[in-house]
Amino acid sequence: MQTGKIGVTSENIFPVIKKFLYSDHEIFLREIVANAVDATQKMAAVAAKGEYTGDLTDQVVRVSFDKDAKTITVSDHGIGMTQEEVDKYINQIAFSSAGEFLDKYKDNIGAIIGHFGLGFYSAFMVSERVDIVTKSYKDGAKALKWSCDGSPEFTLEDAEKESFGTDIIMHIDSESEEFLDENRINQLLTKYCKFLPVSIAFGKEREWNESEKKMVETDKDKIINNTAPAWTRKPADLKDEDYKNFYHELYPGLEDPMFYIHLNVDYPFNLTGILYFPKIKNNIEIQKNKIQLYCNQVFVTDSVEGIVPEFLTLLHGVIDSPDIPLNVSRSYLQADSNVKKISSHITKKVADRLEEIFKTDRPQFEEKWDNLKLFIEYGVLTDEKFYERAQKFILLKNTEGKYYTLDEYKELIKANQTDKNDTTVYLYATDKDAQYTYIENAKAKGYDVLMLDGQLDIHFVNALEQKLEKSRFSRVDSDIVSRLIQKDEQTDVKMEQDDRNNLIQVFNSVTPTDATYIIEFEDLGSTAQPLVITQNEFMRRMKDMGAMSGMNFYAEAPNYYNLVVNTAHPLVGKVLDAEKATLGTELDAIKAELEPLNKQKADLETKKAGKKDDEIPQADKDALSDIEKQIDAIETKRNDKLHAFGKDTQLVKQLVDLALLANNMLKGEDLNKFVNRSIELLNNK
Ligand code: ADP
Repeated sequence: MQTGKIGVTSENIFPVIKKFLYSDHEIFLREIVANAVDATQKMAAVAAKGEYTGDLTDQVVRVSFDKDAKTITVSDHGIGMTQEEVDKYINQIAFSSAGEFLDKYKDNIGAIIGHFGLGFYSAFMVSERVDIVTKSYKDGAKALKWSCDGSPEFTLEDAEKESFGTDIIMHIDSESEEFLDENRINQLLTKYCKFLPVSIAFGKEREWNESEKKMVETDKDKIINNTAPAWTRKPADLKDEDYKNFYHELYPGLEDPMFYIHLNVDYPFNLTGILYFPKIKNNIEIQKNKIQLYCNQVFVTDSVEGIVPEFLTLLHGVIDSPDIPLNVSRSYLQADSNVKKISSHITKKVADRLEEIFKTDRPQFEEKWDNLKLFIEYGVLTDEKFYERAQKFILLKNTEGKYYTLDEYKELIKANQTDKNDTTVYLYATDKDAQYTYIENAKAKGYDVLMLDGQLDIHFVNALEQKLEKSRFSRVDSDIVSRLIQKDEQTDVKMEQDDRNNLIQVFNSVTPTDATYIIEFEDLGSTAQPLVITQNEFMRRMKDMGAMSGMNFYAEAPNYYNLVVNTAHPLVGKVLDAEKATLGTELDAIKAELEPLNKQKADLETKKAGKKDDEIPQADKDALSDIEKQIDAIETKRNDKLHAFGKDTQLVKQLVDLALLANNMLKGEDLNKFVNRSIELLNNK
């Protein structure tokens, strides 16, 4: 037997490995299995070159464990190692100034391991001792057993081994016994080794035994991996079905994806992969981080944020690149310049592919748009480069279900929907049912209305407003139809100022108290509705965005609505007539009472005008304040009467409720009262 010291220049490599890789302990199995796969592939290459002419034996890598002996063993029929090779590859972990290096990377030991080929040593994260029993394929090679307990000392002795290849026997330490478990090993193999290019066996297939009435083990190896996953194959050899099947292999239980993109890049770096556009239901957050990164078919990570472009984190699938450093932490990956290049390249590929589908099969593209638009909008919102490419195939859908590109849509609405300031107004609805009346009104005016009911549409609208020149988006219910797109025509409102002031009080007495209603007067025509509620576009958007981004300051800001009174509607006339009939004489008296006071007030104000505060005689100041108080008191009296009238008059409440109802804003008790009042009114007829 021979003993020696491992050539790590730093004596503390093992403690470091053990300590800092704590959270990633489970990768040891990937490392050991990947080495076995490498050795097996090298063996096949050696044989292919004719450097070995004997029997290749079976090329399966076998993983096994022994709970009693507390070992996990990985065996291969790869090239094996001669004594010199063990010395070179295992004993001399050759890097200079290891101490300095360790210092630098002590928070990022993953990087050391990936960088310096310390994969094998990761076995010490879970083992108190590791044995290597190996025999080189080379003529006359002797079998060897190398053994090390994690200190820099190792032993090397002759061993018995029939065939070439290597067994790595890990004597699992007491803290890592969780790994001595079939399910756990299965889980690790499935996670990390599912697509390795050499068959990996763990345990035996089981089958139903009729006489024993139970599942029994057969002699057949249970192979846990798919050695030729779809992304490694030529697109020409794959059918749609193959892509779908592979998707389900990756994500059992998910619905069929909408599209796939097969990536195959060999310049300026190597990258293969398949990206899928999944069907997204509701919450985009939970859909994230499904893309899996591989390095030569070895799983690296599925937490890809910061590694692939933000919006692609919504996609599913696989990216495989030997240029993605294996074994490294996320922060390391994010900073890696290859990774950055890969990321922007993928964006380009995805955009190219979408454009291609759009160009060659627009009907299919339109059919999938509703599902697709979330990805594209997310891309537009988070990636300027993507927007530049996506401009050509972003679609807008109108309330009739027709799709237009941005250019087509602009062309469609330009003539009729450009306001007097030369701004093109894009009208949209977010709820076809709730905003029905408004949509119909807009259409009656010859306007087109977009349907923007997606999760990201509010943000998308903001983004488009900034990107499209001289354009503005307004929801159909943000104003009365004649003002949605302001042109030069103005209809005069034919209603006395006094009557308007009185009606403001009347209607105000019955508007809901949980929001502020600003009452306005417009001539909407006798066939339009008597009262219309609108909500300012800007205010509503602030609130919506606040609610979406959890900014309560905006979300909880009070609601402001406009209540537009249609002066041309006969029912509004009826309210006014009723008010005059009930309060006419009283109001006239009040008016008569107010007139001289208002005159006095005006006189005092004229006197005061242009003077500094100290130039105004105190007597005048007192007189003004006294008159103001009197006016105030009389006005309050008048308003109280108008409020009482409003509250007592069923028609007033009924009209306001109808406007609320048309806006989907009448709920609960108020709705119930409305229904009862309606029945009463019908009975009275
Ligand atoms: P890396 O695989 O990154 O080179 P490792 O520490 O995992 O680093 O392995 C070091 C070297 O040991 C390998 O490059 C290989 O030459 C040799 N080796 C490890 N495992 C095996 C094996 N199962 N069969 C043959 N050689 C192996």
